[in-house]
Amino acid sequence: MAVQRDIIEVDVLFVGGGIASLSSALHLANLVEAYNEKVPVGGAETKLEIEMAVLEKGATFGAHGISGAVMAPGPLKELMPDFVEKGAPLEAEVTKESVYFLTKTGKIKSPIVPPPLNNHGNYVVSMAKLNQWMSELVEEKGVMLFAGFAGVELLYDEEGTVIGVQTGDAGVDSKGEKKSNYEPGADVHARVTVFGEGSRGSLTKQLITKFGLDKGKNPAGFEVGVKEVWEIPAGRVQPGEVIETMGYPLKTDTFGGGFVYGMKDNMVSIGQLVSLDYSDPLLDPHREFQKYKAHPLISSIIEGGKLVQYGAKTVPVSGYFSIPKLYFPGGVLVGDGANLFNSMKIKGIDLAIKSGMLAAQTIFNGLVKNDLSESLLANYSRALLQTDEIKETKKVRNFHQAMTRGLVLGMTAAVGQFLFKGRVLADRLGAHPDHGYMKKVAEKYGTAKPSPEAIGDMKYDGKLTFDKETDVYYSGATHEENQPCHLRVKDLDICYGKCAEYYQNPCVRFCPAAVYEMEVDEATGKKSLKLNFSNCVHCKTCDVKDPFENIQWVPPEGGGGPKYTVV
Ligand SMILES: Cc1cc2nc3c(=O)[nH]c(=O)nc-3n(C[C@H](O)[C@H](O)[C@H](O)COP(=O)(O)OP(=O)(O)OC[C@H]3O[C@@H](n4cnc5c(N)ncnc54)[C@H](O)[C@@H]3O)c2cc1C
Repeated sequence: MAVQRDIIEVDVLFVGGGIASLSSALHLANLVEAYNEKVPVGGAETKLEIEMAVLEKGATFGAHGISGAVMAPGPLKELMPDFVEKGAPLEAEVTKESVYFLTKTGKIKSPIVPPPLNNHGNYVVSMAKLNQWMSELVEEKGVMLFAGFAGVELLYDEEGTVIGVQTGDAGVDSKGEKKSNYEPGADVHARVTVFGEGSRGSLTKQLITKFGLDKGKNPAGFEVGVKEVWEIPAGRVQPGEVIETMGYPLKTDTFGGGFVYGMKDNMVSIGQLVSLDYSDPLLDPHREFQKYKAHPLISSIIEGGKLVQYGAKTVPVSGYFSIPKLYFPGGVLVGDGANLFNSMKIKGIDLAIKSGMLAAQTIFNGLVKNDLSESLLANYSRALLQTDEIKETKKVRNFHQAMTRGLVLGMTAAVGQFLFKGRVLADRLGAHPDHGYMKKVAEKYGTAKPSPEAIGDMKYDGKLTFDKETDVYYSGATHEENQPCHLRVKDLDICYGKCAEYYQNPCVRFCPAAVYEMEVDEATGKKSLKLNFSNCVHCKTCDVKDPFENIQWVPPEGGGGPKYTVV
C-alpha cells in the first residue's frame, strides 16, 4: 500500500539551514515585512502573506555548521547593518596576521601578508554559533524552522518543474522495514525552492544532472577541511589573531594549507585544507592534520591545552568556471552548493550570504508580480554575476586549476592573477573531477610494499595528536544505528577487486571519520568492508574522491551526524 504522507504547503522552501539559506529567508522576510508596511489600509493593493520554511538535517540549526572561519563582513552588514549591536556571535575582529611557509621542523615567515590572505577588517567566527544565532532571527520573523529534517527526494509536477522536496522517513530499520516508531516523511510543496545544501549537496547533485546545470562548465573540485577547536593556556594566541600556513606536512604535489584562528575564551580554531585532486592513493587528510599539529609552530600553541571539538567538511574550490547555472524551473541554488567560493581568499561565507540575499530579492519581486517562472528566477543569476564578490572570483578563476598542475604553475597563477587579470596561460584552464587524479599505488610507490616512512605514517600520542575514532567522539557524531546505511556503496566487487588491487581501498584513508574499515578474515584472507556509518561527520569526501565513483552519500535519518557547537 502506498505510504500516506502529510503535505505541507508553503510559498518558499529553503533546503539546508546554513548561512546561505538563513540569510535568504531573513532577507525575504524583511522585504515582505517592509512591503506590507507600505500597503495603504483599505486600498486596492493587498498585503503579501508568504509562508516560508527551512529544512535542516542537523539535530539543531548550527549542528552541521563548520568553517574556519574568518568572515568578510560586507554582505552580513548589508543584510543587517547593526549585526554587531544585534549580538552576532563574533569571536573577534582580526587584529594580527601572519603567513608562514613550514618545513618539517622549521618555519619561514612571509615578510608581508599576500593581499588575497589579508584579513584586515574581517571577523573570526564560529560557523556553528553564527548559524544558530541567525536561525533565531529567522524564526522571530515567523519562518517555520524544521531541524532534524532532511530533504531526500525532489518533487516535480507533470511539466518537470520542481515543486518542493520530500523529507526522509523516520523509524526504518537497517533492512528497510518499518519499525514501531515509523513516521513517513512529508511532501513539502513550495512555489519556489531555494537549495542551500552546502558543499556537494545530495539533492543539488541530482538537480545539476537533471537540468544539465553544469553544461559547458568545469567540473566541481573540492578540498576537505579537517579541524579542531582547542582551549589553550592564556596569552598564546589573542582573539582575532590569524595565522595561515603553507608547506609541511603537505608534499609539493598536494595543494592545501593550514590555519590557526584566535577565538574568545582562550580558544583557537586549528585546521588544514587538503585539495581532493591529490594523486597519492595512500594519503590520509586526517593524518596530515595530526602531523600539522605536531609541527613546532602549532604544538607550541596547543601544548598543555585541551581538545574541545573536532569536525571535517568539504569546500568547493573550483571557482568561477565551475559555478553551475543557478536557476531552473521551480528553484535556485545558493552558497557552497552552487560552488560559490573564492579559493584564493579561502572565503565562502560572504558569497553564501550575498547569493542568499539576491535569491531572496528575485523571489520577492516574483511574489509581488505573481511570476516565479524560470525566466524570472534568471534575474537572480544576472544580479549575482554583477556583484563584487563574483567579480573577485572571476579575477582568480584559474587559481585552483593551476594549483592542480603543481606548485610552480600554481604560484605563477597566484602572481598572474594580478598581472593578467586572472589569465594563466589561457583564459580558462580545464580540469578533471577530483576522483580522476588518483594514481595507482604501484605507479606512485613502485611495486615493492611502501614503507611506513614513505607513506608518512605516524603514531598518535593522545595528547596533541589523535586517531580518527577519538576525534569523531569530539565531533559528537551519532546516528540511529538501526537504519539503512546512508553511504551507498554501489558495487562491492569493485571494492574487493580493482579498488583493492590498484588503490588499496583509499576510502579507509580519505574518510576523516573512520567510517570505512576493511576487515580481513585471518583464516581465509577474505576482505569485507565494514561501514561505521554512525561515525559519519557529513563531510562528503567519499562522494567526491572515490576513484570509481562507487560511493554515494545520501542523507541519513534526520538529526543524525555531528553536533557542532563551536567549530
Ligand atoms: C574547514 C573550513 C574552513 C573554512 N574557512 C572559511 C573561512 O575562513 N572564511 C569563509 O568565508 N569561508 C570558509 N569556509 C567556507 C564556508 O564555511 C562556507 O562557504 C559556508 O559555510 C557556506 O554556507 P552554506 O550555507 O552555503 O553551506 P553550509 O554551511 O554547508 O550549510 C548547508 C546546510 O544544509 C544542510 N543540508 C545539506 N543537505 C541537506 C538536505 N538535503 N536537507 C536538509 N538539510 C541539508 C547541512 O546540514 C548544512 O547545515 C570554510 C569551510 C571549511 C569546511
